[in-house]
Amino acid sequence: MKEGQQQFYHWQFSLSASPAKLWPYVSDTNRIFRILGATPVSETSLSRSTPKGSLELSHNKLKSYVSWRQTPYIWEYPYRFGVSRHYKLGILKELRFSTEFISLDHETRVSIKIWIQPTNPLFSFIIKAYVEYIIKRRLAKYLQQVDESISKNLRPYEISKPKKLVRGAERKIKTIKAQLIENSKRKRIVNRLFDLIQLADDEELERIHPYSLAEYWGEKKYSVLNVFLHAAKLDLLDFSWDVCCPKCKSPKHTFRKMREARVHLYCNDCESDYMMDFNRNTHLVFTPHPLIRKITDKKYSLGGPQSKPHRVTQQSIDIGSERYPQIQLEEGTYLFRTHNHEGHLILHVREEGADNITVFITDEELDGQEITISTNPNLIISNRSSKKAVCFIDKLNWKEEAIYASEVSSSHDFRELFSRETLKETSKVKASEVTMLFTDLMNSTELYVQEGDESAIGRVMGHFKIIQQIVAEERGGIVKTIGDSVMAVFWEPVSALKAVQRIQQIFTTSTSMGDAFKIKAGVHFGDCTAVNLNGRIDYFGTTVNIASRLVDIASEKEIMVSEAVFNHPDVQLYLDKHSDTFFVKESMKELKGFDDEEFKVKQIRLERPPMRLVI
Ligand SMILES: [Zn+2]
Repeated sequence: MKEGQQQFYHWQFSLSASPAKLWPYVSDTNRIFRILGATPVSETSLSRSTPKGSLELSHNKLKSYVSWRQTPYIWEYPYRFGVSRHYKLGILKELRFSTEFISLDHETRVSIKIWIQPTNPLFSFIIKAYVEYIIKRRLAKYLQQVDESISKNLRPYEISKPKKLVRGAERKIKTIKAQLIENSKRKRIVNRLFDLIQLADDEELERIHPYSLAEYWGEKKYSVLNVFLHAAKLDLLDFSWDVCCPKCKSPKHTFRKMREARVHLYCNDCESDYMMDFNRNTHLVFTPHPLIRKITDKKYSLGGPQSKPHRVTQQSIDIGSERYPQIQLEEGTYLFRTHNHEGHLILHVREEGADNITVFITDEELDGQEITISTNPNLIISNRSSKKAVCFIDKLNWKEEAIYASEVSSSHDFRELFSRETLKETSKVKASEVTMLFTDLMNSTELYVQEGDESAIGRVMGHFKIIQQIVAEERGGIVKTIGDSVMAVFWEPVSALKAVQRIQQIFTTSTSMGDAFKIKAGVHFGDCTAVNLNGRIDYFGTTVNIASRLVDIASEKEIMVSEAVFNHPDVQLYLDKHSDTFFVKESMKELKGFDDEEFKVKQIRLERPPMRLVI
């Protein structure tokens, strides 16, 4: 039978927002395909020979089964993306599209090109009518809405119509709202949360990250988390634990309860095993409670740029070919990887980095070489290997907005509201590069003698409360208290330092507490094991032991930190910025129980020691 002629469409839309602002919405192919009226797709594995990065997809509509192979999406943030589909069954033989963002003087031109090859000339007319009258109109409307919301400094959901709730939810919502305001005392955030639940698209509600909303709403992270936890307690929201694959960063496994979590996991995209890690890949995510609003888990497109928002470019390069991706990077660390190589290259992006860079892909492994490039590099990727290559550049620490299991599982709010939400008694979960802080009240014995038990106990308890509040505000949680000592866990070292700084400031300046409290601290970071001990998360390992020894050897008003903490780039940056308030001294110490080695430590004091006159 004769095939239909290839059809070509080229549409241009003039929008006022910048490419970077448009990118998250316009490259969200899953949402766009749904809005355009596509049928949900599912992954099939019809052939074992699918090249890495390609997908075998299908959908079933009106009893007509359509299946196709999708080449990897190609993208260059925030300038272009595109994909092609090669059909095996159905009325199409091939579908290709590319979207380009062109920055002009006062506008962004979004240029969309579509190529469609029907299997049969008889379908040509219907396809043409559908594409020109339905698809184009819906797309224009969506782009308009996105552009309008950006121009008002809003997100698209804030100017969209209310969505359908579960029957009876309207009534329930009113009661929950009043209760939630009462429990959290945070009316403004509660109102924003209700808007989100009622107006946002399913795609935005499938996995809600409270910290990224906090950033957008201009609210404190811990306040937003507090509202979300109360909302989950009242069955307005539901939560689960995403355990992301460290390679592709996708939430490949999700557990409704922490005790259901498995430690050994597998990613079928990367074809590799991975482990649950409390401080690296396990995140708390929220979604509306199913009795309030049903969120579909249907997918309308797979593998698009927003399925991997940390990936700035993905390219498919034939043997002997080159690509010149145009990308706009923020400063930071990125990894260059391919589907065929185990290793990676490390790209440090700096304003003053190199502008011209050529990366050669050969049959040799990528050896971890480090390159410093500029934020707008002229990048050439050349495939000199014997295979077609799919390669990509990923931002390394992209999950700052995620809530890590380590920080939240020990937080006061979470434990109060969900005390049963902990690990299985037999589980031992790795917590990589977790930060441990110990504080100690140096003069508690004197305090008890001077003030009498009753007054002293009250004040010591008050001191725990203050520490707990500050730790929570700095993204940490108190694991336990031991006598007058606090053991707290943080996702990253600089947070622990900020917390101690604030604690010290409060206890040295506030008049009610006065100088009566002499607090010292020890901070170390490294790998630990998280377990459930008597119904609470606790940590074991050398990292914990070292941190607790560090507080022992600290003096009054001192923070004793290990070299690992001190050398952490974020800590360095923080100390540099506050060099007038911190005084740092280096020394070698012997730690109890670690007799064999001398331990290099840094003593950090908040104020300079009094000047001594030398005569
Ligand atoms: Zn993966």
